[in-house]
Amino acid sequence: MKPDLRSLTLVELQSESAALSWPRYAADQVFTWLWQKGVDDFGAMTNLSKERRALLAERYTIGRLELLRTQNDDDGTTKFTFKLADGNIIESVLIPSGGDITRSSSTGIVSQAGSDRTTVCVSTQVGCRLGCGFCYTATLGFKRDLAWHEIASQVLSVRSFVPRPSSFASSSPSPSPLAPSPISNVVFMGMGEPFLNYDATIEAAKTINAENGLGIGARRITISTAGIPDGIRAFIQVEQQFRLALSLNASDDETRSRLMPVNKLHPLKEVMAAVREYTAAKGKRVTFEYVLVDGVNNRDKDVHQLAALLKGIPCKVNLIPLNPYPGCELKAPSDQSVHAFAKKLWPLVPAVTVRRSKGARILAGCGQLAGLSE
Ligand code: SAH
Repeated sequence: MKPDLRSLTLVELQSESAALSWPRYAADQVFTWLWQKGVDDFGAMTNLSKERRALLAERYTIGRLELLRTQNDDDGTTKFTFKLADGNIIESVLIPSGGDITRSSSTGIVSQAGSDRTTVCVSTQVGCRLGCGFCYTATLGFKRDLAWHEIASQVLSVRSFVPRPSSFASSSPSPSPLAPSPISNVVFMGMGEPFLNYDATIEAAKTINAENGLGIGARRITISTAGIPDGIRAFIQVEQQFRLALSLNASDDETRSRLMPVNKLHPLKEVMAAVREYTAAKGKRVTFEYVLVDGVNNRDKDVHQLAALLKGIPCKVNLIPLNPYPGCELKAPSDQSVHAFAKKLWPLVPAVTVRRSKGARILAGCGQLAGLSE
């Protein structure tokens, strides 16, 4: 079987181009067709000579994710289920505008972020190794890492379903490079642990960001980790200004290990040291995600312990009421209790957000992706 041209990084395309004695710009042209314009056939690469197109077609195919189905939630969220070339199944989520409520302790201002956002949530692995007690993906176990282009292709595929602003509508089936992307943000918060598939994650993020790729601003790309210290340290060296989110979920080792077995391998002290190195080196704010589980991590003592743990770190705490899924024995706190937790926490940390549970009815919310759900 011929290899998939989309699996080649820009650097690999450049060496392929050099091997064929093509000028360097030919590789850039091909990359632009594949990732900025998202074409699926060689014939569409109209600024390449017919000979070059034919040669590529002889050697390669252009792969795409096979869409198995989409499911829509009344809140506008859409879950995409994709089949990979080897038959494995992954899910991605499109989350439209209107989002989290943020309260800043310095200004006391309550704002509703995200009114102009369209976010795609991507998966980085088929299944997951980490076995977090509150996460549906964990029940799948681990199948395999995604290749970088399988991660970036999720954004490409989802993008093709989102209408572009009408003033840019064109008769051409491929989107005009001048049209602004209908996707504003990408979060690596789907199935899997990005930092256990580090190289593919970073390569995908770079293509999602690249101007001749998907063109999404680096500051609008967030990678969320359960806390792999080596990954966080390596991330410091990445030139692009991608954002970091850490799934904290508890502020003492006993509670955290109970919810997230990975904490036994990398306890809080180790994870927080890496996060502090990150904020010191990058001068950037980190988002701490905190899934609220009733009676487990939403006690009064958790508020104070959490504030103490985060002291001095430029950050935002994103509270996520637990999304239930089939067989989940943990319970979400009541709205009232979520609100009370947020209210007690907000004067003690720089900012607190309560994440609205988008897509929960179609099992597209945080921690609900398993690719099997009906
Ligand atoms: N492995 C990465 C990314 C996937 S999880 C990580 O741990 O960050 C993405 C986010 O969803 C995490 O913050 C996680 O804590 C949250 N999450 C997982 N299961 C959830 C559930 N059932 N309800 C609400 N949030 C959940």
